[in-house]
Amino acid sequence: MKVLKFGGTSVGSADRMKEVAALVNDGDRKIVVLSAMSGTTNNLVEIANYLYKKNHDGANEIVSQMEKKYYEEVEALYATDKYKELGRELIRLHFDEIKGYTRDVFTVYEEKSILAQGELMSTAMVNYYLQEQGVASALLPALDFMRTNKNNEPDMAYIRENLNPLLEEQPEVQIFITQGYICRNAFGEVDNLQRGGSDYSASLIGAAVGADEIQIWTDIDGMHNNDPRYVEGTRSIAELSFDEAAELAYFGAKILHPTSVLPAKLADIPVRLLNTLDPSAPGTTISGKEIKGDIKAIAAKDGITAIRIKSGRMLLAYGFMRKVFEIFESYKTPIDMITTSEVGVSVTIDNDRHIDDIVDDLKKFGTVEVDRDQVIICVVGDLVRENKGYANRIFNALRDIPVRMISYGGSDHNISMLVSADYKKLALRTLSEKLF
Ligand code: ADP
Ligand code: ASP
Ligand code: MG
Repeated sequence: MKVLKFGGTSVGSADRMKEVAALVNDGDRKIVVLSAMSGTTNNLVEIANYLYKKNHDGANEIVSQMEKKYYEEVEALYATDKYKELGRELIRLHFDEIKGYTRDVFTVYEEKSILAQGELMSTAMVNYYLQEQGVASALLPALDFMRTNKNNEPDMAYIRENLNPLLEEQPEVQIFITQGYICRNAFGEVDNLQRGGSDYSASLIGAAVGADEIQIWTDIDGMHNNDPRYVEGTRSIAELSFDEAAELAYFGAKILHPTSVLPAKLADIPVRLLNTLDPSAPGTTISGKEIKGDIKAIAAKDGITAIRIKSGRMLLAYGFMRKVFEIFESYKTPIDMITTSEVGVSVTIDNDRHIDDIVDDLKKFGTVEVDRDQVIICVVGDLVRENKGYANRIFNALRDIPVRMISYGGSDHNISMLVSADYKKLALRTLSEKLF
């Protein structure tokens, strides 16, 4: 069985939904994971932000605009009166729920429920469309099987135990449609897998059912060798290893959710990145195959904060690093990059929620400097084993750009550099020019 995930653009209008339906309706049994229609989750986030600020007019204005759009899409999607009415009923139901939250107290619990509405609507719309076409499709409610544990990590055993029976109980169903992104947390409350999390849903589902393949359908023909939003003339990469794809996703290649490669890697299921706008393009295949060769791709991760701790006592003090890391751990703040010298250590974080407390605690060990608005530029490929002077080529390309940190040797296929956000575009472009 295959798992196919379609992102927001791929289900962004009635016409796109019809194209998705045609793509998935090939006679094979499968699970289809859908995102919300493009723009919807952003709108829902805005609504929640207004409600936190008790600005009900602001929230209601966006709700009305969205509602109007959804009724129009429903009219365009279905051909028969019966399904048009079912579609309208569906939209009414979900918007009644959203409006229900615009009245009373607003907490993170209500926020999560609002954010879930986009995927609940898109999946129900496509499911009705397939049924109108006479296809044996059914909804597979993600809230019945997708779950995170107390550490906010997917509860793989729970997912497996609850998802597989749903498939077995319905042998007549050809196409299962389920929601990406949404889940329940350890307390059973509605929650989500973070923005862009539908890729993660697909990968978790693929691993849970032991799929033959996980397909991520989006609006571009696979993983490109640089970020197409900033660099012209980027090219699609035919093959990547799981590790290379994971590095690129983690370090900013938006086409994949940062953690979505791991479940597929652990279950050894190939992931294909495909283009809904050009379905016959080969895209990118990610698998356990180690692909020898050159530099594959460049990515950039925004919103990085660098922290330098300088200490005269570092040299002979074993245990210094442990104490530094324990402070980050106590604030549940992961570290991305690390560099050390005789007199100090620099680390980067992308979550600066607890930065003030962290800096306060670090001051016990030395002087602390913080640089905000930094970017990690990450070069991925078969870099270390075959000594082809890649480091030289990379630093030569960046010779006019101030580099704050360098990380090399942590794995065989990654060199990361920290630069100020002002230099991000220039760094991406010159690297593309000089390396490809
Ligand atoms: P979806 O809504 O289908 O999940 P996303 O917007 O999350 O789609 O991801 C696809 C987008 O990722 C592309 O349109 C492209 O702009 C962006 N992107 C960033 N880096 C890369 C890259 N290296 N290769 C391909 N796409 C990338
Ligand atoms: N709809 C969610 C978002 O926009 C999840 C996703 O599209 O992957 O972040
Ligand atoms: Mg995405």
